[in-house]
Amino acid sequence: MPAVKLNIKLLEVTKDAVRLIYAACRQCYSEKFAGDIFAEDAKDPKKQEEFIAKVAASGHESPLEHAKFTFAVEGVSRALTHQLVRHRIASFSQMSQRYVAAKNFNYIVPPLIEEDSDVKDEFVRIMDYIHGNYNELLKKFEEKGKKGEAVNQDVRFILPQAAETKIVFTMNCRELLHFFADRCCARAQWEIRALAKEMLKICKKEIPAVFASAGEKCIKLGYCPEGEKFTCGKYPLKEAVLKGK
Ligand SMILES: Cc1cc2nc3c(=O)[nH]c(=O)nc-3n(C[C@H](O)[C@H](O)[C@H](O)COP(=O)(O)OP(=O)(O)OC[C@H]3O[C@@H](n4cnc5c(N)ncnc54)[C@H](O)[C@@H]3O)c2cc1C
Repeated sequence: MPAVKLNIKLLEVTKDAVRLIYAACRQCYSEKFAGDIFAEDAKDPKKQEEFIAKVAASGHESPLEHAKFTFAVEGVSRALTHQLVRHRIASFSQMSQRYVAAKNFNYIVPPLIEEDSDVKDEFVRIMDYIHGNYNELLKKFEEKGKKGEAVNQDVRFILPQAAETKIVFTMNCRELLHFFADRCCARAQWEIRALAKEMLKICKKEIPAVFASAGEKCIKLGYCPEGEKFTCGKYPLKEAVLKGK
């Protein structure tokens, strides 16, 4: 039952994403058919990139919905995926705690706990305790001739939020920009922020025209909307900007 760490893999990104977004953008402003625009060879990819970067920056984001990324993630907690799946403009496939018995579940150790050896020892002890009890309940059911998902789905009620999970998810570029705005912010919880930052690195590498200036919402806004209590101080507060400070 070891502690594990985030592992993220890009499974797929839309092929010819820049050309696709460009064709969709151009359709808005052109008499030409996007089918023909897309079919034309990318004679000037730099021009296409500049065009979509400008359109995206202007807030005309619907063409970005045509390109998407699919990620596989492991080494994250159920606490993280509970937050991740709140993002509704996405598709998710997660390892089930009904079909996959957590007989040897791994877990995530939060940084605050990791850095305090006393607390960490206690945390590990609790994880071992839950692990032992989980398997004990499975054993009790098995002795009564019951096993499989009907049992797993009930015994999982004692599993911790720290339990490791694996998930595959797909988000389009517009949703990714929104996700980064919220989840790269210093206000976001540390684990989902770490995931968001890793995803952002991958997105920037794959489609810089769309993601070069993506990140926490203050980057685009030029101010922090989180208020005095929660601001990280990187940008001035909204009220200060409105007052021209
Ligand atoms: C720092 C932080 C703290 C949070 N704390 C809490 C908390 O204490 N409790 C809690 O319950 N949640 C909390 N959340 C989750 C938050 O409320 C959202 O559920 C989550 O971030 C998903 O964001 P979203 O709804 O904007 O995005 P998505 O579901 O990804 O949707 C993207 C955008 O599409 C539009 N949209 C999607 N669905 C609808 C709809 N049905 N109607 C209208 N517009 C829609 C909206 O413009 C939305 O912003 C927190 C999030 C953050 C970042």
